[in-house]
Amino acid sequence: MQPNDLPSPANRLICPHCGNEHDFYEIAEDVVITTHYIQNQDGSFTPEDDDTQVLGGIKLLCGQCQGDLSEFHQRFTEMLF
Ligand SMILES: [Zn+2]
Repeated sequence: MQPNDLPSPANRLICPHCGNEHDFYEIAEDVVITTHYIQNQDGSFTPEDDDTQVLGGIKLLCGQCQGDLSEFHQRFTEMLF
């Protein structure tokens, strides 16, 4: 499928620096990952659930030019399925 085959929805995120609309990185700073383990009879452990807490900021970066797209992060999360 060619990108030009479909009309771009107006809300497509496009890097204002280089025009990239394909690759993006989300970077979370100061992440605390808590994992709950149950110890089994034989002494092995089974992870029950984990919880990720982001204490720092979350950045959105362009995958092409590494430009800071954090101002679009809110929109990014709304379009995350
Ligand atoms: Zn870019």
